[in-house]
Amino acid sequence: MHFSWGKFVKTLASQVNLSHMIRLLSTDFDGTLVDHFAIPPVDPALFSMLEALRGKGVHWAINTGRDLPFVDEGLREFGFPIEPDFVLTAEREVFHRGPGGGWQDFGEWNQRCYRAHDALFEQASELLTDIQCFVDEERVEANLIMEGGRLVGLASETEAEMDRICAFLEVERRRVPGFGFMRNTIWVRFCHEAYSKGTALSELGRLTGIGPDEIFAAGDHYNDLPMLDGVHAKWVMCPSNGVEVVQEVVRRAGGYVAKGRCSSGVVEALNHFGALIRG
Ligand SMILES: [Mg+2]
Repeated sequence: MHFSWGKFVKTLASQVNLSHMIRLLSTDFDGTLVDHFAIPPVDPALFSMLEALRGKGVHWAINTGRDLPFVDEGLREFGFPIEPDFVLTAEREVFHRGPGGGWQDFGEWNQRCYRAHDALFEQASELLTDIQCFVDEERVEANLIMEGGRLVGLASETEAEMDRICAFLEVERRRVPGFGFMRNTIWVRFCHEAYSKGTALSELGRLTGIGPDEIFAAGDHYNDLPMLDGVHAKWVMCPSNGVEVVQEVVRRAGGYVAKGRCSSGVVEALNHFGALIRG
């Protein structure tokens, strides 16, 4: 059998191209796909694009701070014509479709995540009490968010109040190794540093055999930062309404900062990276 340089180069080129194809979209929901201040809240061009990409075999994951029931509610409320293949919820949990069509844990990740948070919150009991005192003593205007008797986050009245809360948390969190927090506008959720939209996305990539070079990620706020730094997804973007630090991180990762808000910006970015999507 004789060796053909032409065939070798062609094969190599197709492999190189394939390794740079986008096969998975990881999109935040509120503020990225949905503009709560616009009519309509979602640009219809996004719906057509998602349908077209689905036709080309591109997978779609919603990677959000919402929990599972609120993702489904959001998809219905805003009239999405297709459903995502995967949902990554509460900024850290990974779900796929079970045999009956309902969402179910994808692999062991969620169980590991719950155990890590149980252990973390136990270690952080003193810190959590101090956070509660910080709010109770009215040094800040905020409501406690409780789950199963546990303080899991805070909701403030204004963004300025949340700036103060996060400045306090940034200092105090150092008392407990692994204690982190995810901010999204006037909400903050406490978390284990090892679990974020970024690490959950990498786990989804591992489970589906899709590498970071084949993943597109879109987000607008602080809680999206872990999936926008180029580590877990190579092709990153934020819409024009993305907060300043998100825009900076996206630019630094060689990503795309759109001119349009929310879904219009996402459509713009998908067109920008269009050559990376199988035609
Ligand atoms: Mg958002």
